[in-house]
Amino acid sequence: MPSNLKEYLIEILEEKESIPIHDYMALCLQHPEFGYYQKKEALGRKGDFITAPEISQSFGEIIGSYCAYIWQILGEPSQFHLIELGGGYGTLMSDILHVIKKYPAMMESFHIHMVETSPVMIARQKKAFEKYDLPIFWHKDLDQLPKDAPCMFLGNEFFDALPVRQLQKEGGFWYERHMQLNKQNEFEFCLGNRPVCPPETHLLADDAKDGHMIEYSPLSLKFLDQMARHLQKQTGVGLFMDYGYIFPTFGESLQAIKNHEYVDIFAYPGESDLTAHVDFGALGQVIGGYSKELKLLPPMSQGDFLLQLGIMQRGEALKASLSSQEEKDLLDSAIHRLTDKDEMGGIFKIFAFGHRSLKLPFDWEDQILAQTQGRGDEK
Ligand code: SAH
Repeated sequence: MPSNLKEYLIEILEEKESIPIHDYMALCLQHPEFGYYQKKEALGRKGDFITAPEISQSFGEIIGSYCAYIWQILGEPSQFHLIELGGGYGTLMSDILHVIKKYPAMMESFHIHMVETSPVMIARQKKAFEKYDLPIFWHKDLDQLPKDAPCMFLGNEFFDALPVRQLQKEGGFWYERHMQLNKQNEFEFCLGNRPVCPPETHLLADDAKDGHMIEYSPLSLKFLDQMARHLQKQTGVGLFMDYGYIFPTFGESLQAIKNHEYVDIFAYPGESDLTAHVDFGALGQVIGGYSKELKLLPPMSQGDFLLQLGIMQRGEALKASLSSQEEKDLLDSAIHRLTDKDEMGGIFKIFAFGHRSLKLPFDWEDQILAQTQGRGDEK
């Protein structure tokens, strides 16, 4: 019986010769016993990496005010499903609810759904929500979500945590990147034996030359398609914060982080966080497939999004409740990290979409249309 993921992988590789890197990433993150998300302290200062909600409550509170606004433009429905994918410790949702609870009508209508696969994260989320009195449901995927009311999908650093396939072009054909054991019993890269087809969502695949590599995440595309179908019928929006690229690109982005440092992806299977940059262009194409009912908002940096929604003002209000200068300075530096273009503010992007019938914030297309038609001009 293997006692850790490395031993388990060695057993598999002795039997199968090689497995796709995609399967390695999925096992490292999701193995029910040895997977990374079974780890007690993955997120936060004490963990391997820190996410925006864990940096400052002002992040979740700004997203909370965005949720409140969406509820209003939906016509203040008596029932509204707020669905978070990969909610980690529940900090973002908890900070959102902190805002929502000030408005009884909103609190009455909100139903919370957490889509989460890690029992450790689910336990943390349950604890984080103890103080809130509203219906909260947990799901393993999007199949069982109720279809009876408008909804909002939400996720921070969710897509980057989903496994990617890596394809490499050789001799005019695409092969999937695999891993195998070398003579010293160490993991190394290799290619699968049979040619495979590149995904339709990768716009550069046809221009590739030998040696070029592309990455794509089948699970991300599937999740987005499910969300799109849902919104098509129920109406509502999606809002995701993540790091990645807008224009298609060649190359690999799979990386491993342990104790806030980059490490070799094979060095600590199940003990380091594996992520890949999000291909926002490919995700956008999924929404494009529903263009009659849904629209994709122009890409925006996290910094611009938070600043325009008033994170500085929120920070000032929070500071007034803090007594020591040290705490105030810490808050300032947290907000700087979340918004500065050289830090998370520039590296992270907002990927937002919604039903065409809604007048969504930051919809430049709508604003331009309104102006060309002589509406919406405040001058
Ligand atoms: N949003 C949180 C956590 C990000 S880490 C934050 O910003 O702090 C990624 C999260 O996605 C974890 O909670 C992990 O358990 C969850 N996750 C990873 N793969 C998943 C899947 N296939 N379905 C649902 N949740 C998943």
